[in-house]
Amino acid sequence: MKKFLSLALILLTFALTGCGNSEKQDGRLKIVTSFYPMYLDVLNITRGVEGVDVVNLTPPQTGCLHDYQLTPEDMKTLETADIFVVNGLGMEAFLDKVTEARPDLKIINASDTPKIVPILEDGVPNPHVWMSLTYSIEQVKNILSKLCELDPERAEKYRMHALEYVDELTTLRDEMHISLDMMPNKDIVTFHEAFPYLAAEFRLNIVAVIEREPGTEPTPQELADTIEKINALPVKVIFTEPQYSPKAAETIARETGAQLYELDPIVTGEAKPENLLDYPDRMLTNTLTLIKALQ
Ligand SMILES: [Zn+2]
Repeated sequence: MKKFLSLALILLTFALTGCGNSEKQDGRLKIVTSFYPMYLDVLNITRGVEGVDVVNLTPPQTGCLHDYQLTPEDMKTLETADIFVVNGLGMEAFLDKVTEARPDLKIINASDTPKIVPILEDGVPNPHVWMSLTYSIEQVKNILSKLCELDPERAEKYRMHALEYVDELTTLRDEMHISLDMMPNKDIVTFHEAFPYLAAEFRLNIVAVIEREPGTEPTPQELADTIEKINALPVKVIFTEPQYSPKAAETIARETGAQLYELDPIVTGEAKPENLLDYPDRMLTNTLTLIKALQ
């Protein structure tokens, strides 16, 4: 009887820790991505490749992962993952918890390449690198090369798809340069710190940022400083983000007479194959908005 009981205990322990991994006997490769921009990159690289499942960890409306806390549901998703693709540069502040729970999980850090030079703010890297077309391309290439190392069997297919996507992004970047390089006005005010890489790529000048941390309302002093900076501009434009309330921006617009437009950091969206080209599509919308706002 005692022997039987201890065996039951061992089995139970296996079931609880997931050592048995019974769901993963299907031979499929499960790639989990941390948030939407990473999902779109991996979707493009793996599209139509047999035996690969791509799952985005965070719900469609999560947006940037600043202050994101892992849920028990997330931990369950990661339990059966083979590879976890993250943006890096501090965007996934919860990463330590993941590696603690799953020390064997293969992690691909998309920004971990010498080709991406982070912009530092008070000594801390700004993680929104995907908003530069050039860096988004580097992230795709980096994910590709690490994925090919981890899954050499499917490498040829990954490579073919990634190159097609990179071509698409390169064409878009060239078109954006043609239209944005000659804009007479380059001064913009943005909502949160999502746009320095986009600005650097197209030589836009971010005059002020309304909320450094999304969800944290600016203090009266910060509000006054922003209003002063905008009042000094010949062309006054403020860009809100579809993911966040435009309240503070509307207040500032009322005080300064600035025009409000919307720039999309492309961090929310349904994780579904139909959204394959959502990044270039929404970047094109951003470009049209910038053209309208800056001429
Ligand atoms: Zn952000």
